[in-house]
Amino acid sequence: MIEEVALGKVYDGRLMRRLLSYLTPYGAVVVLSLTLVIMISALKLVGPMLVKVAIDEFIANDDVLGLYRLSWIYIGVLIGQFGVSYLQIYMMNMVGQRVMADMRLEIFTHLQRLQLAFSDRNPIGRMVTRVTTDVETLNELFSSGVVTIFGDVFMLLGIMAVLLYLDWRLAIVTFAVLPVLFGVTLIFKRRVRVVYRQVRTRVAMLNAFIQENIIGMRVVQLFGQERRKLNQYSELNQKHTDANLESILHYSIFYPVVEILSAIAIALIIWYGGGQILLGTLTLGGLVAFIQYSEKFFRPISDLSEKFNVLQGAMASSERIFSLLDTKVTIQSPQKVVPDPFLKVDREGGPVIRFKDVWFAYDDEKWVLRDVNFSVNHGETVAIVGHTGSGKSTLMSLLARFYDTQHGQVEVGGVDVRQWNLKELRKQFGVVLQDVYLFSGTIASNIRLGDEDLADEQVVASARSVNLENRLSNLRKGLDAPVLERGSSLSLGQRQLVSFARALVRDPKILLLDEATSNIDTDTELLIQEALEKLFTNRTSIVIAHRLSTIQKADRILVLHKGSIREFGTHQELLATRGVYYKLYQLQYKEQEFGVPL
Ligand code: ATP
Ligand code: MG
Repeated sequence: MIEEVALGKVYDGRLMRRLLSYLTPYGAVVVLSLTLVIMISALKLVGPMLVKVAIDEFIANDDVLGLYRLSWIYIGVLIGQFGVSYLQIYMMNMVGQRVMADMRLEIFTHLQRLQLAFSDRNPIGRMVTRVTTDVETLNELFSSGVVTIFGDVFMLLGIMAVLLYLDWRLAIVTFAVLPVLFGVTLIFKRRVRVVYRQVRTRVAMLNAFIQENIIGMRVVQLFGQERRKLNQYSELNQKHTDANLESILHYSIFYPVVEILSAIAIALIIWYGGGQILLGTLTLGGLVAFIQYSEKFFRPISDLSEKFNVLQGAMASSERIFSLLDTKVTIQSPQKVVPDPFLKVDREGGPVIRFKDVWFAYDDEKWVLRDVNFSVNHGETVAIVGHTGSGKSTLMSLLARFYDTQHGQVEVGGVDVRQWNLKELRKQFGVVLQDVYLFSGTIASNIRLGDEDLADEQVVASARSVNLENRLSNLRKGLDAPVLERGSSLSLGQRQLVSFARALVRDPKILLLDEATSNIDTDTELLIQEALEKLFTNRTSIVIAHRLSTIQKADRILVLHKGSIREFGTHQELLATRGVYYKLYQLQYKEQEFGVPL
């Protein structure tokens, strides 16, 4: 949220150049659009000139036919202006939309490649803001900002030139209000800048609050926190409204002041210009043209101050977007990968998985794993047990190379995971995570996860083999039953079975199972046990186990305690040593033997 507060500069050349580089693919359209903008400005300049001619040449000389012709020319100019504006606005908005689409794609691609350590530290809401609001802010810059600023400046210069050409003394009188106008604009800009920042931070706060509370609605309702949350929200809401009202206040002063100034300018023109007419140095048509030009003159100036906001918002947003895009991807596939990683193990034997002197910390030096050494042989099932927070799930994250170790190495198939092609490495594993994540779609689509190579029969077979179909009998459509966001339409046990099927369907070499701690009814428990049986056969598996029944299926048990390996052996061996496992067994698992939870 703090990032939203930063306002940044109005203009930053480095950022601007990088932003403009997004226009490169649409260079031709942009150039065309700029040409059109100049044409529009030129056409706008023609109007008052025609009025001058009409008054001085035709009305003064009673030339009705000339007036008639001129009217047609005037209409032609207006139609031309309309056509060109239409083209220009359409083209520039199209470019804006395309650039936004490109940018969103780039951000999302980058987010996908970034290491988990990044998403650990950055709230989801913030990333969503990058892809949505921040990109949207840039759209304004591309679709209206860049080109119209150019058009406005061109228009101002053009009008100044024409005015000076028509009557330089009158022109200078007209320009007399300009210093006041600039002064007012400057003050306004400064005020709005502060309010603008307030509005932005408050919107961000409001959004963060809503997001957190919708996700946590269950807890809010369970604990009867609705009123308190509502009060908090109402306070934030009020602050947001206040900030918006304040900005409206500034605008409602600014625009009338500009109106008054432009009225004063016209009064000056009539006063001084009227005198000039009487002296015979200015024609009536000239005066009318002058008034029309000066009206066109004030609009772009007050618009420019508005453009400052667009520019400033764009600078702040692009700074945030670029800093996200510049976040280094630290976990990457190496340039040179080992071509056939499992070859060595297949030929010479040896462990399929091996941790060698592994030290790991999420934040530097706060060790979560200390000097971990163990290996898992082909076809073996190893259960990992240990207290909560002892680092069990972390072991799995290291195997899939979501993080890199600080010391030591993790080997899969006899090859350091850092020498594996990342995609290949992850393909070796069938993973069932502690908390199952389901995407919206159907049950089948969650098993398949978009893998077109999988035949429908495979999906059905894997679902059947973990007894998923049995459990879905209450869902009318079976595998095609819809899954809502985060799987909220399924029970915990059903979700778990889905994730088993998901792991199994690809027939992975290695199975990583992080057993959920949640209790499941004995019926489902039995189904899951049966499913596990199938998962383990003929596969190297590591299971983080919480249930005795699962532990008993393992060949060996690894006891993790505060990030170090305390014991490693078979159930009987470990019981015999009377160590940590023995205590755990006495405390937790023994009851499960009789089906009576503690
Ligand atoms: P449980 O049985 O509760 O699942 P666990 O043994 O799986 O526990 P881990 O998830 O491996 O425990 O966590 C080990 C330690 O690392 C904990 O102290 C935890 O606070 C810390 N930790 C886990 N994930 C992160 C993370 N993404 N960033 C920082 N610290 C983390
Ligand atoms: Mg865990």
